[in-house]
Amino acid sequence: MIQMVDLKTQYHRIKEEIDQAVLGVIESTQYIGGPKVISFKENLEKYLGVTHVIPCANGTDALQIAMMALGLKPGDEVIVPAFTYVATAEVIGLLGLTPVMTDVDPDTFNIRADHIEAAITPRTKAIVPVHLFGQSVDMEPIMALAKKHNLYVIEDNAQAIGADYNSEGVTSSHTHTKKTGTIGHFGCTSFFPSKNLGCYGDGGALMTNDPALADAARMIANHGQSKQYYHDKIGVNSRLDAIQAAILDVKLKYLDEYCNARRRAADYYDTVFSTIPQLITPTRSAHSTHVFHQYTLQIKTPNPSATRDELKTFLSGQGIPCMIYYPVPLYKQEAFKQYWDGQTLPVTEQLCDSVFSLPMHTEMTEEILKKITGAVRAFFKP
Ligand SMILES: *Cc1c(COP(=O)(O)O)cnc(C)c1O
Repeated sequence: MIQMVDLKTQYHRIKEEIDQAVLGVIESTQYIGGPKVISFKENLEKYLGVTHVIPCANGTDALQIAMMALGLKPGDEVIVPAFTYVATAEVIGLLGLTPVMTDVDPDTFNIRADHIEAAITPRTKAIVPVHLFGQSVDMEPIMALAKKHNLYVIEDNAQAIGADYNSEGVTSSHTHTKKTGTIGHFGCTSFFPSKNLGCYGDGGALMTNDPALADAARMIANHGQSKQYYHDKIGVNSRLDAIQAAILDVKLKYLDEYCNARRRAADYYDTVFSTIPQLITPTRSAHSTHVFHQYTLQIKTPNPSATRDELKTFLSGQGIPCMIYYPVPLYKQEAFKQYWDGQTLPVTEQLCDSVFSLPMHTEMTEEILKKITGAVRAFFKP
């Protein structure tokens, strides 16, 4: 059976290393903190080229801790894309801040500086660009805007760890390349099992190059503690446990290989799907490598959401899953209606009606790709 994500085959290829790492932690009885957490943190800092990685319990916590460390206060406005996973905006509401949702780029699905600029008010304090589906937001104009208006930038990098951002364009001979998640005041990521760097449970991390912000985030993640049993701030309890850190330390070595495997699968998909007139293949941004957390197509028919329902049923009949990320704009979610002024955002609406994502993981064989592309082709050209 074909799956959206095949974690089992991936595990079996590195089973010996993983088993040894996990058993090592169990044997050591250092289940919280300890050498494995430090080793992973340091290796991730090296990999990303960032001075501080602060591990925590999950990606949602990372976003929350970042906003707490920046001292955001109830009533402050935080700009987010309307087309994203709920976690990005949820923590904003949880902290009593006000999410302000903007439309996204129709090609890359990512938030854009011009939309952000139009949404800035005197209450705006921060921007959360989401590197959606595995490629970087065009960060340079957003960083310039943030500087001009004195705003914080928190990158939601849960879907794009390993991607490279280059303000000059990825094919430029200039190399101003930075890893996503290391550009804003904070970067936040998730190690949820199905993410590009996933553990075998929950995990997350913050990234920053600012030592004072790193200290603040570390303190908040650890009960607001400055030294043992002295608590300077209201914090949270958010830790990456040692077993997950040991697994991640093994898997980090394979992250680039994993990204390449995803790109190869995407290339195969692109070749077939670019010949189907009813489909739009994912655009590859000029400013970013794409690590394909998701392979997301758009349907271009008179009634895309009806076509999508039929396609989903057709594929499911052949044992092929497909998912809709995301079917509802954030502002139309019941929990977020309180922030909605009733205005719809055209690109977000159109994407919610027309996108669908096909299986994408590190273990896509030619046989799997042939079966999926064959079925999609058969649907559109019966
Ligand atoms: C997965 C995800 C998160 C949340 O990560 P968790 O570890 O599940 O809390 C946040 N933002 C985006 C865009 C995500 O895809």
